[in-house]
Amino acid sequence: MERRKFIKKTAITLSAPFWLTSCDTDVLNSNPFPISVSSLAKSGHLIKNALSLKVSKKRQTETLIVGGGLAGIAAAHTLNNKDYLLLELDDRYGGSSSASNYQGVALSRGAHYDLAYPGYYGVEVLKMFEQLGIIEYQGWNDSWSFKDRQHLIPAARRQQCFQKGKLRKAVIPKTEASHKLMEVLRPFEGRMILPTRLTPVDIQYLDQMTFDTFLNDQNIDADPYFRNLIDYQMLDDYGGTSQQVSALAGIHYYTCRPYQKQHVELFSAPEGNQYFANKIHQQLSSHKILNQHLVYHIEKQGAGYLVNALDIIQNQRLEIQTDAIVYAGQKHSLPYIAPEIDSPFNENIYAPWMVVNILTKQKPNNFGFWQNEYLDSESGFLGFIDSSVQYQGNLKGIHCLTGYYCLKPEHRSQLLTVEDHKDRIVNETLTYIRSMVKEPINPEAAFIHVMGHAMPIPTPNYLFKTYPEIGNFNFSGVDTGKLPLLFEAIDSGIMAAKSL
Ligand SMILES: Cc1cc2nc3c(=O)[nH]c(=O)nc-3n(C[C@H](O)[C@H](O)[C@H](O)COP(=O)(O)OP(=O)(O)OC[C@H]3O[C@@H](n4cnc5c(N)ncnc54)[C@H](O)[C@@H]3O)c2cc1C
Repeated sequence: MERRKFIKKTAITLSAPFWLTSCDTDVLNSNPFPISVSSLAKSGHLIKNALSLKVSKKRQTETLIVGGGLAGIAAAHTLNNKDYLLLELDDRYGGSSSASNYQGVALSRGAHYDLAYPGYYGVEVLKMFEQLGIIEYQGWNDSWSFKDRQHLIPAARRQQCFQKGKLRKAVIPKTEASHKLMEVLRPFEGRMILPTRLTPVDIQYLDQMTFDTFLNDQNIDADPYFRNLIDYQMLDDYGGTSQQVSALAGIHYYTCRPYQKQHVELFSAPEGNQYFANKIHQQLSSHKILNQHLVYHIEKQGAGYLVNALDIIQNQRLEIQTDAIVYAGQKHSLPYIAPEIDSPFNENIYAPWMVVNILTKQKPNNFGFWQNEYLDSESGFLGFIDSSVQYQGNLKGIHCLTGYYCLKPEHRSQLLTVEDHKDRIVNETLTYIRSMVKEPINPEAAFIHVMGHAMPIPTPNYLFKTYPEIGNFNFSGVDTGKLPLLFEAIDSGIMAAKSL
């Protein structure tokens, strides 16, 4: 490409997300099936309205939990019979591990899976999962197995990978470079733990450099082609490239389970990780949870806090007096919600994600892999999950293809334009999927779920930070210096509740 054109193209790519740049007429066509868009991006505007309302209801509680993602509900589960109230902005719990609902069928619109847990992982989450009937201990290989075996994805059907429309076996094929990479990583096997707060002190220095620097220091092949493959995997799990994420995060990705020594179970229900949220939620008292309630102001009052929330449905202002707070909502809005609290999270960088569920009753013939990875897209499209490989029991004949986009933080403000460009987004997703499955797909509906502050990128010096203690105000959630993983979210909720 001519240099001038290249620069122009790069500038366009950087300045706007794909749905605002694509000129391809195919992707502009409107679709004959309904497309709905869900996003909490507009909730900030509700606050303006809330401020003008008079207090309609008053409540008192010992602990207020802000946010009903995995961290928030894990905190609620830990508080058990104690007096607490959990407020969640969305109309459902689970946050980035929640599901959409189509004709009574729950389908993941965020996190999709987890892997079996080695015996050396942190006991708090393992105990909770055992008590919830999610896992059981297997002495013969010192690991925890999932009990609902129907949701295990068979090893032979786990993934396929496409590069520029061509099928290849794995994201990182077996080459001399990949062999060297595995050799360099081998000493860390068994030492990379979840939750990361239990990481052995002697390897914590790996959090201070980027994964890219670590790879360079270890003389790992610097060929951009090879490094792109590593970047794909970092984006997929962490929302950032190897130049953005820490070496610890990068090494953790490859060595946090005994992949080289034994088969590691992969668990993926059609509702994704809402499966885990459901198990926790089933044991909570429903009267202690208020959905569609936005916490918009917190101030100190005596030894406790005075909290203002908006009941979005009733358009009413709720005032809550609480002795303590577990703040499990994303932290980017903390300075506005709790201006008296000196936020220790101002340097967090969040990757926005967009998930596109395409529903069809027709089950394509040549599908057959759970994860279908797509390398080298310019749009942030990383691939799709095919529900035909998941347990069919609850699917009522519905077939769901879930496309994933990891977007750039600088494009966050343009997420508000998704609604206006929903046809283009779905068409682009269908174009990618069709290029991989090479057969017609006839959707009967599509859902787009937009998450502006979806994934905190584990940049250097992000893990292992110590935060000043604030009286009876505990933080939880993966954006408190954790890797963006289910295990970390739940552990952070348990620990926040325990340390009140
Ligand atoms: C697209 C995607 C795919 C992923 N896939 C996987 C995967 O397959 N496996 C895995 O282990 N991890 C995965 N992750 C990561 C994992 O899902 C998350 O790290 C985890 O669910 C985060 O939980 P959380 O409770 O920390 O935060 P969140 O899920 O972000 O929950 C925060 C909650 O707080 C609520 N909230 C925020 N502010 C307020 C307020 N002011 N008032 C009331 N409520 C508020 C929000 O609505 C939200 O429900 C994925 C993440 C994304 C984005």
